[in-house]
Amino acid sequence: MEKTDFTDKDTYQEIFDPHAYCNIYYDPKSGLLVVDGFLDFALRKLCEAFTIRGVKGKTLIDIGHGPTIYQDLSACEAFEEIIGADYTDRNREYYERSLRNEPGTFDWTKVIQKVCDLEGKGMTVEEKRKKLLNTVKKTLKCDVLKSNPMEPLILPKVDCVMSLGCLECACSDLDTYRQVLKNVSSLIKIGGYLIVSEILNCSSYLLGGKRFSCLALTEDFMRSAITETGFAIVDLEVIPRKYDKEQYELCNHDSSLFVVARKERNV
Ligand code: SAH
Repeated sequence: MEKTDFTDKDTYQEIFDPHAYCNIYYDPKSGLLVVDGFLDFALRKLCEAFTIRGVKGKTLIDIGHGPTIYQDLSACEAFEEIIGADYTDRNREYYERSLRNEPGTFDWTKVIQKVCDLEGKGMTVEEKRKKLLNTVKKTLKCDVLKSNPMEPLILPKVDCVMSLGCLECACSDLDTYRQVLKNVSSLIKIGGYLIVSEILNCSSYLLGGKRFSCLALTEDFMRSAITETGFAIVDLEVIPRKYDKEQYELCNHDSSLFVVARKERNV
């Protein structure tokens, strides 16, 4: 495949289409991240993180949420408040509208039902929607490339930062990725948690006829980068993806990774 030029944050701001992204990647039948097993994997690992792994506390920041809300469905049971954060205005707006389940936004009902089933507490879809809406207090503009990603705001350090499928989009190279982990770590208390999920070995993905670059990551790199940033890995799992020519042309990762890590020190 030809090399895709780096897609910078301003391109995300200009052309990333929230609704199209949800349809292509999360449609319950044909969504690429549904078909490849990523969504079920992420839901299961998130549920585990916030129950058996004991990740809980007052505040969680969900960085690079994009237009999706699936990642916050279990988190809202373990945290008093969630603060969303993303670079683009359109994604933050779409995320807020999705929390309110406004007409015209992507339908997450099946995913919400699945999370209620996984959690096994007998919660209904409506109860879960309400819980999520009450727990996400706001979403803020952020840029993970800045040493304080929430600049100009200075937030008190939090118990957990979570980022799914964002950092590999935001970084042009591995050194930048290492730096971005430091930037994100600066938001977390010692003893707090970092939850990261990424697709691996991906160079690009298609959206709305445009190819977006993606930084190719490996499990080994992720282990060492996270450890070098002062975290102890609590849980790390990788799931493989089956080869399919058509699907790989849309997005060419060969596996997905999910990590929970505990912050031991500042670096
Ligand atoms: N969390 C979504 C992924 C969204 S796509 C999911 O799980 O499917 C990647 C997201 O990264 C986009 O929302 C984009 O706006 C965001 N992003 C890209 N560069 C960024 C930066 N420098 N800082 C913060 N967010 C960024």
